[in-house]
Formats: sequence, C-alpha cells, structure tokens
Amino acid sequence: MEDWKKVLAQSITKPNDLAKQLGVDEKEVEDIVGPYPMRITPTVLATIKEKGDAIWKQVVPERIELDDIDAPDDPLEEDTDSPVPHLVHRYPDRVLLMVTNQCPIYCRFCTRKRLVGKPGFLKKGELDQAVAYLREHSEVRDVILSGGDPLLLPDYLIERILKALRSIPHLELIRFGTRVPGTLPQRITPELCEIVKQYHPIYMNLHFNHPDELTPEVKEACGHLADAGIPLGAQTVLLKGVNDDPEIMKRLMHELLLARVKPYYLYMADLTKGTNHFRTSVETGLKIMQALQGHTSGMAVPHFVIDAPGGGGKIPLLPGEYLLNLDEKGAVLKNYENKTYFYPQPSTTDNRELPMVGTSVSRDMCSAGAMDDYS
Ligand SMILES: *Cc1c(COP(=O)(O)O)cnc(C)c1O
Ligand code: SF4
Repeated sequence: MEDWKKVLAQSITKPNDLAKQLGVDEKEVEDIVGPYPMRITPTVLATIKEKGDAIWKQVVPERIELDDIDAPDDPLEEDTDSPVPHLVHRYPDRVLLMVTNQCPIYCRFCTRKRLVGKPGFLKKGELDQAVAYLREHSEVRDVILSGGDPLLLPDYLIERILKALRSIPHLELIRFGTRVPGTLPQRITPELCEIVKQYHPIYMNLHFNHPDELTPEVKEACGHLADAGIPLGAQTVLLKGVNDDPEIMKRLMHELLLARVKPYYLYMADLTKGTNHFRTSVETGLKIMQALQGHTSGMAVPHFVIDAPGGGGKIPLLPGEYLLNLDEKGAVLKNYENKTYFYPQPSTTDNRELPMVGTSVSRDMCSAGAMDDYS
C-alpha cells in the first residue's frame, strides 16, 4: 500500500477513537456521524492545540449540527444545475465536476454536507457520461475537478480522467479544488506531480482556513506542486470562531503566500443544513477585506464573494466606500487611509453608460473640500 493510504487509514473516523484522543462524549458523536461522517487525518489531529480551537471546530462533530433542521440541503441548487450526474453547469464557459465524494477530512461546515463521505457516489458509467457531455459542449473551456476531493482518487484514476479531458480539444483549463495538501500532505508524491504535469495548463485551488494549517510539511507539499508548474490558489471560508478576525485572516494570507499559494476566494459561509452555526455577518467579511486591502501586499488580498443562495453563482463584494461618486467629470475615490482622491474622466464620451447603483453622494460633498488630497 502507498504511504499516503496508510496515513489516511490512521485517521480518526470512529466515535470511540475520537473519545480516546480528544476526550469528547462518544455517544453524542455517534448520533452525528451517521448523517454526517467524520474523518480527521493525523496531520490535522496534530495541529489541534486545545478543545474548541480553530482546527478542532472545523473537524470535530458537534451536537448543534443536528439542530439545524430547517436549513436547505443544497442551498446553491447544484442538483438543479446538473445536466448529467455530478456535473454542475452554471456558468457559460466552465463547469464543476465532482469526481468523488471522499475527502481527507470531513469539514463540519461543508457546503456539500449532503453528499460527502457517504457510500455509493459515482456509479459505473457516470464519469463517461460527464466526459461525453463535455465533448458535446464546445462552449466549455474550463473544468473544475471537485467533489469531495479529487486528489483522494488513486493515481491511475486521476491520470485516466486527465487523459480523457485532454482528448477534448476545446477544453483549455483543468483545475483541481482540493483540501489534500493542507490535511494529507503525504499524498503529494513525486509520482502524482509527475502525472499531473503532463496535462498542463493545470491549476489547483487549495482549501485553507487558518494560519495554523500551514505546517512545515504542508508548505513543503505545496512547494512540490508549485515546482511541478501548477499555479496554486487558495479558497477560504469565513467561519465563526475559526477565522472571523482581521488579524487571523491577515496571518493566513501571509502564510499562504509563503507557501507559494495565492489567495483566490474568501467565501461567506453557505446556508447548508448542519452548518449554520458557522455563519458570521456580511459586515465581518467586509471589515476583514478592509483590513487587508492597502494594508498589506495586494497579492495577499482574495476576492470576497457570496455564492448566492438559489444558484446565482459567486457575487463579489467590496467594502462600499472606495467609489464615492462617479459622473461625467470623474471618480471620487477613498483610499485605505480614508483619504479622498479624484480621478478625472478622459475627454472623450465613450462608455459613459455604466450604471453605478448605490454609489452616489451629494454633489456638495464632491465640490466642497472633500478632495483636499487631490492636487
Ligand atoms: C465556483 C464555481 C465555478 C468556478 O467559478 P470561478 O469564479 O471561475 O472560479 C464554476 N462552476 C460552479 C458551479 C462553481 O460553483
Ligand atoms: S474537503 Fe471540501 S468537499 Fe470535503 S468536506 Fe471539506 S469542504 Fe467539503
């Protein structure tokens, strides 16, 4: 057996093992892992410092998950947007393909809590069906391998999938969405890197939520992927009690860059059943973005998005105050230090029809002293 499979097999999946390791109530955990499976890899277990800390909260089942009975199972309506099983085609030119429902850890806040970790996900022929759909749909130029976690598949299956996708001429990009490098770094083997780099351009977006996740061995695993020529992005979910704090978030973004990972998305948590105790206010997210933008490397600033309930897709949010006014004369702007600046429009009249809703301020403010800093 490959080394990483042995490590994965040492993960905590049973309530009595969790009780032994972390001293939680076995009975309580038993009720939860029926509907919502648990897995905690050795790497993640070693990162837990104390009861209820940021790593603990992400992986240790809590009774409150079962109290969340009124929430939807599939708030993003992914199932509605699936023309064939496990393929979500929501945007014009790209699709999300769930190639497995197994993950190295089962995040308690997972947006696909309805699916992950349960038996009997991918049925025979379904992957061929998805590939056939992609072959017929020449508008699709970007496919995201997701799940579950695609890097939990064995090497030969990853290779088979990449080969099948690369036989479709109009497919330009292949991306992986994965939490493996941060939770099961042993999986990032030289053999895996060797396979993946045959199918460039391949991108990976790695899931990280807290700076403590970036241990030396995790950073090394990220380095192997980067050395294989794979541009690495990070996806982070804003989670109450985990990272809903500007200082923690800034540390996370810095650690990611040190691991050669570029922050890509910061998500508001979804409304998924069993996860609502992790949600924070939108204002918390905006404050975090405000604390990053301009205050640290632009490379460290992710896009802050809400994946709209009902299948609207990702919608970007900016703290509203940067554009104070826009008219035919120019843009009144506020910078990260709350100073106001003016950017004059060019004298030509092209492209003046962009509607800017909700950014108007009174003309008085624009003409009377609000632009002291512009010269
Ligand atoms: C997030 C997502 C994508 C990719 O979105 P990008 O903004 O291009 O990263 C594609 N399809 C679905 C269904 C998604 O949820
Ligand atoms: S790794 Fe991703 S898909 Fe798997 S449980 Fe965590 S959030 Fe969900």
